[in-house]
Amino acid sequence: MDNTRIFADLHLHSSASDGLLTPSELVGAVHRFGLGAMSLTDHDTTAGLAEARRSAELHGLVMIPGIELSTVMGKMEAHFLGYNFDVSNDDLQRELLLFRSARKKRLSSMIDKLAHMSIVISRERVHELAGSGALGRPHLARALVEAGYAGDVSDAFDNYLGRGRPAYVERYKLTPVRAVELIRKAGGLAVMAHPGLANMDDYIAVLVKAGLQGLEVFHPGHTPEQAEQYLDTAGRYNLVVTGGSDWHGDAGAYGPESDRWGLNRKRFDALAEILGQRRYIV
Ligand code: AMP
Ligand code: ZN
Ligand code: FE
Ligand code: FE
Repeated sequence: MDNTRIFADLHLHSSASDGLLTPSELVGAVHRFGLGAMSLTDHDTTAGLAEARRSAELHGLVMIPGIELSTVMGKMEAHFLGYNFDVSNDDLQRELLLFRSARKKRLSSMIDKLAHMSIVISRERVHELAGSGALGRPHLARALVEAGYAGDVSDAFDNYLGRGRPAYVERYKLTPVRAVELIRKAGGLAVMAHPGLANMDDYIAVLVKAGLQGLEVFHPGHTPEQAEQYLDTAGRYNLVVTGGSDWHGDAGAYGPESDRWGLNRKRFDALAEILGQRRYIV
Protein backbone atom coordinates (compact mmCIF):
# COMPACT_ATOMS: atom_id res chain seq x y z
CA MET A 1 0.00 0.00 0.00
CA ASP A 2 1.35 3.43 -0.91
CA ASN A 3 1.06 5.47 2.27
CA THR A 4 2.52 8.66 0.91
CA ARG A 5 -0.19 9.37 -1.67
CA ILE A 6 -3.34 11.16 -0.64
CA PHE A 7 -6.37 8.87 -0.78
CA ALA A 8 -9.12 11.03 0.74
CA ASP A 9 -10.05 14.71 0.56
CA LEU A 10 -12.41 15.45 3.44
CA HIS A 11 -12.96 19.18 3.03
CA LEU A 12 -14.64 20.34 -0.18
CA HIS A 13 -17.23 22.95 -1.16
CA SER A 14 -19.77 22.82 -4.00
CA SER A 15 -22.28 25.21 -5.54
CA ALA A 16 -24.71 24.11 -2.80
CA SER A 17 -22.78 26.69 -0.75
CA ASP A 18 -20.05 28.96 -2.13
CA GLY A 19 -18.13 26.55 -4.38
CA LEU A 20 -18.01 26.94 -8.15
CA LEU A 21 -18.65 23.33 -9.20
CA THR A 22 -21.89 21.42 -8.81
CA PRO A 23 -21.63 18.40 -6.49
CA SER A 24 -21.38 16.04 -9.52
CA GLU A 25 -18.71 18.16 -11.20
CA LEU A 26 -16.76 18.23 -7.94
CA VAL A 27 -16.96 14.45 -7.51
CA GLY A 28 -15.81 14.06 -11.14
CA ALA A 29 -12.82 16.31 -10.48
CA VAL A 30 -11.84 14.44 -7.31
CA HIS A 31 -12.10 11.17 -9.23
CA ARG A 32 -9.89 12.52 -12.01
CA PHE A 33 -7.27 13.45 -9.44
CA GLY A 34 -7.19 9.74 -8.58
CA LEU A 35 -8.60 9.85 -5.03
CA GLY A 36 -10.68 7.06 -3.54
CA ALA A 37 -12.73 8.89 -0.90
CA MET A 38 -14.10 12.35 -0.23
CA SER A 39 -16.46 14.38 1.89
CA LEU A 40 -18.59 17.28 0.69
CA THR A 41 -18.49 19.85 3.53
CA ASP A 42 -20.60 22.77 2.35
CA HIS A 43 -21.21 25.71 4.71
CA ASP A 44 -24.52 25.45 6.62
CA THR A 45 -26.26 23.16 4.13
CA THR A 46 -26.71 19.49 3.32
CA ALA A 47 -28.43 20.28 0.00
CA GLY A 48 -25.56 18.95 -2.14
CA LEU A 49 -25.10 15.62 -0.35
CA ALA A 50 -27.66 13.49 -2.19
CA GLU A 51 -26.31 14.48 -5.62
CA ALA A 52 -22.74 13.99 -4.41
CA ARG A 53 -23.54 10.52 -3.13
CA ARG A 54 -25.19 9.47 -6.42
CA SER A 55 -22.25 10.76 -8.40
CA ALA A 56 -19.72 9.12 -6.07
CA GLU A 57 -21.48 5.79 -6.50
CA LEU A 58 -21.13 6.09 -10.28
CA HIS A 59 -17.40 6.77 -9.94
CA GLY A 60 -16.83 4.15 -7.25
CA LEU A 61 -15.72 6.77 -4.71
CA VAL A 62 -16.40 6.53 -0.98
CA MET A 63 -18.52 9.56 0.00
CA ILE A 64 -18.80 10.71 3.59
CA PRO A 65 -21.60 13.17 4.34
CA GLY A 66 -20.13 16.37 5.78
CA ILE A 67 -20.79 19.96 6.78
CA GLU A 68 -18.78 23.01 7.88
CA LEU A 69 -20.04 25.37 10.59
CA SER A 70 -18.42 28.73 11.42
CA THR A 71 -18.30 29.87 15.02
CA VAL A 72 -17.24 32.93 16.99
CA MET A 73 -16.52 33.52 20.64
CA GLY A 74 -15.37 37.01 21.55
CA LYS A 75 -12.43 37.74 19.27
CA MET A 76 -11.85 34.07 18.59
CA GLU A 77 -13.15 32.38 15.47
CA ALA A 78 -13.09 28.74 14.44
CA HIS A 79 -14.75 26.45 11.94
CA PHE A 80 -15.99 22.94 12.66
CA LEU A 81 -16.53 19.99 10.37
CA GLY A 82 -19.19 17.37 10.99
CA TYR A 83 -18.91 13.94 9.38
CA ASN A 84 -21.35 11.09 8.93
CA PHE A 85 -24.19 12.68 10.86
CA ASP A 86 -27.87 11.92 10.35
CA VAL A 87 -28.81 14.34 7.56
CA SER A 88 -32.49 14.17 8.49
CA ASN A 89 -31.87 15.24 12.12
CA ASP A 90 -34.57 17.86 12.85
CA ASP A 91 -32.60 19.97 15.33
CA LEU A 92 -29.66 20.19 12.98
CA GLN A 93 -31.80 21.09 9.95
CA ARG A 94 -33.70 23.73 11.93
CA GLU A 95 -30.45 25.38 12.99
CA LEU A 96 -29.01 25.20 9.46
CA LEU A 97 -32.09 26.99 8.15
CA LEU A 98 -31.51 29.73 10.72
CA PHE A 99 -27.85 30.07 9.75
CA ARG A 100 -28.74 30.35 6.07
CA SER A 101 -31.32 33.03 6.73
CA ALA A 102 -28.74 34.90 8.86
CA ARG A 103 -26.33 34.65 5.91
CA LYS A 104 -28.86 36.48 3.70
CA LYS A 105 -29.24 39.31 6.22
CA ARG A 106 -25.49 39.53 6.72
CA LEU A 107 -24.78 39.78 2.99
CA SER A 108 -27.50 42.39 2.67
CA SER A 109 -25.87 44.51 5.42
CA MET A 110 -22.51 44.15 3.70
CA ILE A 111 -24.05 45.40 0.46
CA ASP A 112 -25.44 48.40 2.41
CA LYS A 113 -22.00 49.14 3.87
CA LEU A 114 -20.51 49.05 0.39
CA ALA A 115 -23.22 51.42 -0.86
CA HIS A 116 -22.20 53.93 1.83
CA MET A 117 -18.74 53.79 0.29
CA SER A 118 -20.33 54.49 -3.13
CA ILE A 119 -19.72 50.93 -4.24
CA VAL A 120 -22.96 49.84 -5.78
CA ILE A 121 -23.60 46.12 -5.99
CA SER A 122 -27.03 44.80 -6.85
CA ARG A 123 -28.59 42.28 -4.47
CA GLU A 124 -30.15 40.53 -7.45
CA ARG A 125 -26.77 39.95 -9.06
CA VAL A 126 -25.30 38.49 -5.85
CA HIS A 127 -28.31 36.17 -5.56
CA GLU A 128 -27.91 35.21 -9.22
CA LEU A 129 -24.25 34.36 -8.65
CA ALA A 130 -25.20 32.24 -5.63
CA GLY A 131 -27.97 30.43 -7.48
CA SER A 132 -29.56 27.98 -5.06
CA GLY A 133 -26.38 27.88 -2.94
CA ALA A 134 -26.12 29.04 0.68
CA LEU A 135 -25.04 32.69 0.34
CA GLY A 136 -21.52 33.59 1.37
CA ARG A 137 -18.94 36.32 1.12
CA PRO A 138 -17.33 34.66 -1.93
CA HIS A 139 -20.53 35.38 -3.89
CA LEU A 140 -20.31 39.06 -2.98
CA ALA A 141 -16.57 39.00 -3.75
CA ARG A 142 -17.31 37.63 -7.23
CA ALA A 143 -19.87 40.41 -7.78
CA LEU A 144 -17.26 43.02 -6.75
CA VAL A 145 -14.76 41.57 -9.22
CA GLU A 146 -17.37 41.44 -11.97
CA ALA A 147 -18.30 45.11 -11.37
CA GLY A 148 -14.64 46.10 -11.53
CA TYR A 149 -14.24 47.11 -7.86
CA ALA A 150 -11.66 44.39 -7.18
CA GLY A 151 -9.00 42.70 -9.29
CA ASP A 152 -9.82 39.26 -7.95
CA VAL A 153 -11.65 37.55 -5.10
CA SER A 154 -8.70 37.72 -2.77
CA ASP A 155 -8.38 41.46 -3.48
CA ALA A 156 -12.10 41.88 -2.63
CA PHE A 157 -11.52 40.19 0.75
CA ASP A 158 -8.38 42.22 1.47
CA ASN A 159 -10.01 45.57 0.68
CA TYR A 160 -13.63 45.12 1.72
CA LEU A 161 -14.94 41.79 2.96
CA GLY A 162 -12.31 40.31 5.26
CA ARG A 163 -12.71 40.44 9.03
CA GLY A 164 -11.94 44.00 10.17
CA ARG A 165 -12.24 45.41 6.64
CA PRO A 166 -14.73 48.24 5.96
CA ALA A 167 -17.66 46.22 4.60
CA TYR A 168 -17.30 43.37 7.10
CA VAL A 169 -20.34 42.41 9.15
CA GLU A 170 -20.12 39.92 12.01
CA ARG A 171 -21.72 36.55 11.40
CA TYR A 172 -24.46 34.75 13.28
CA LYS A 173 -23.06 34.02 16.70
CA LEU A 174 -22.86 30.27 16.93
CA THR A 175 -20.50 29.29 19.75
CA PRO A 176 -17.86 26.57 19.25
CA VAL A 177 -19.35 24.40 22.02
CA ARG A 178 -22.81 24.65 20.47
CA ALA A 179 -21.43 23.66 17.04
CA VAL A 180 -19.74 20.59 18.51
CA GLU A 181 -22.94 19.67 20.35
CA LEU A 182 -25.10 20.10 17.25
CA ILE A 183 -22.88 17.74 15.25
CA ARG A 184 -22.67 15.18 18.06
CA LYS A 185 -26.43 15.23 18.73
CA ALA A 186 -27.02 14.46 15.05
CA GLY A 187 -24.76 11.39 15.45
CA GLY A 188 -21.78 12.96 13.68
CA LEU A 189 -18.06 13.12 14.26
CA ALA A 190 -17.05 16.65 15.39
CA VAL A 191 -13.74 17.95 14.05
CA MET A 192 -12.07 21.36 14.36
CA ALA A 193 -11.30 22.65 10.85
CA HIS A 194 -7.92 24.19 9.96
CA PRO A 195 -6.96 25.09 13.58
CA GLY A 196 -3.97 27.01 12.21
CA LEU A 197 -6.35 29.52 10.61
CA ALA A 198 -8.44 29.79 13.77
CA ASN A 199 -7.20 31.22 17.03
CA MET A 200 -8.58 28.77 19.53
CA ASP A 201 -5.59 26.59 20.38
CA ASP A 202 -5.89 27.46 24.06
CA TYR A 203 -9.51 26.39 24.02
CA ILE A 204 -9.03 22.91 22.50
CA ALA A 205 -8.98 21.24 25.92
CA VAL A 206 -12.39 22.76 26.73
CA LEU A 207 -13.77 21.69 23.35
CA VAL A 208 -12.56 18.13 23.89
CA LYS A 209 -14.57 18.08 27.11
CA ALA A 210 -17.56 19.37 25.13
CA GLY A 211 -17.25 16.44 22.68
CA LEU A 212 -14.68 17.44 20.06
CA GLN A 213 -13.31 14.25 18.47
CA GLY A 214 -10.95 15.31 15.71
CA LEU A 215 -8.52 17.87 14.35
CA GLU A 216 -8.04 18.79 10.69
CA VAL A 217 -4.25 18.55 10.56
CA PHE A 218 -3.63 18.45 6.81
CA HIS A 219 -4.94 21.65 5.18
CA PRO A 220 -3.34 23.99 2.59
CA GLY A 221 -3.48 26.86 5.10
CA HIS A 222 -1.06 24.99 7.39
CA THR A 223 2.70 25.07 7.03
CA PRO A 224 4.42 21.67 7.38
CA GLU A 225 5.50 22.83 10.86
CA GLN A 226 1.89 23.58 11.83
CA ALA A 227 0.78 20.17 10.54
CA GLU A 228 3.43 18.59 12.80
CA GLN A 229 2.31 20.72 15.72
CA TYR A 230 -1.37 19.77 15.33
CA LEU A 231 -0.48 16.13 14.80
CA ASP A 232 1.12 16.38 18.20
CA THR A 233 -1.94 18.11 19.70
CA ALA A 234 -4.21 15.42 18.23
CA GLY A 235 -2.05 12.73 19.82
CA ARG A 236 -2.10 14.49 23.18
CA TYR A 237 -5.90 14.69 23.30
CA ASN A 238 -6.51 11.40 21.51
CA LEU A 239 -8.25 13.18 18.62
CA VAL A 240 -8.71 11.59 15.19
CA VAL A 241 -6.63 13.24 12.44
CA THR A 242 -8.41 14.50 9.32
CA GLY A 243 -7.42 16.52 6.28
CA GLY A 244 -8.68 18.09 3.09
CA SER A 245 -8.03 20.76 0.49
CA ASP A 246 -10.97 23.11 1.29
CA TRP A 247 -11.19 23.49 -2.48
CA HIS A 248 -13.97 25.74 -3.81
CA GLY A 249 -13.45 24.69 -7.43
CA ASP A 250 -11.37 27.74 -8.36
CA ALA A 251 -8.87 27.23 -11.14
CA GLY A 252 -5.34 27.68 -9.87
CA ALA A 253 -6.27 27.34 -6.19
CA TYR A 254 -4.97 24.52 -4.01
CA GLY A 255 -7.06 21.49 -4.93
CA PRO A 256 -7.27 17.81 -4.11
CA GLU A 257 -4.35 16.98 -6.43
CA SER A 258 -1.64 17.64 -3.87
CA ASP A 259 0.18 15.15 -1.65
CA ARG A 260 0.20 17.52 1.34
CA TRP A 261 -3.42 17.87 2.42
CA GLY A 262 -6.02 15.17 2.74
CA LEU A 263 -5.44 11.71 4.19
CA ASN A 264 -3.32 8.84 2.97
CA ARG A 265 -4.86 5.37 2.89
CA LYS A 266 -3.65 4.41 6.33
CA ARG A 267 -5.03 7.51 8.02
CA PHE A 268 -8.29 7.28 6.11
CA ASP A 269 -8.74 3.66 7.21
CA ALA A 270 -8.26 4.74 10.84
CA LEU A 271 -10.93 7.41 10.41
CA ALA A 272 -13.26 5.05 8.51
CA GLU A 273 -13.06 2.60 11.38
CA ILE A 274 -14.23 5.27 13.81
CA LEU A 275 -16.95 6.40 11.39
CA GLY A 276 -17.99 2.79 10.82
CA GLN A 277 -19.31 2.69 14.35
CA ARG A 278 -21.78 5.39 13.42
CA ARG A 279 -24.79 5.63 11.19
CA TYR A 280 -24.03 6.25 7.55
CA ILE A 281 -26.97 8.01 5.97
CA VAL A 282 -27.24 10.59 3.21
P1 AMP B 1 -18.61 33.35 4.81
O1 AMP B 1 -19.01 31.94 5.15
O2 AMP B 1 -19.65 34.10 4.08
O3 AMP B 1 -18.06 34.09 6.01
O4 AMP B 1 -17.36 33.21 3.78
C1 AMP B 1 -16.29 32.37 4.13
C2 AMP B 1 -15.61 31.87 2.86
O5 AMP B 1 -14.95 32.97 2.25
C3 AMP B 1 -14.52 30.85 3.11
O6 AMP B 1 -15.01 29.54 3.02
C4 AMP B 1 -13.55 31.09 2.00
O7 AMP B 1 -13.94 30.36 0.88
C5 AMP B 1 -13.76 32.53 1.64
N1 AMP B 1 -12.66 33.41 2.11
C6 AMP B 1 -12.44 33.84 3.37
N2 AMP B 1 -11.37 34.66 3.41
C7 AMP B 1 -10.90 34.76 2.15
C8 AMP B 1 -9.82 35.45 1.53
N3 AMP B 1 -9.01 36.24 2.24
N4 AMP B 1 -9.65 35.31 0.20
C9 AMP B 1 -10.48 34.53 -0.52
N5 AMP B 1 -11.51 33.84 -0.01
C10 AMP B 1 -11.72 33.96 1.31
ZN1 ZN C 1 -16.47 28.55 1.53
FE1 FE D 1 -13.30 27.02 6.92
FE1 FE E 1 -14.15 25.25 4.09
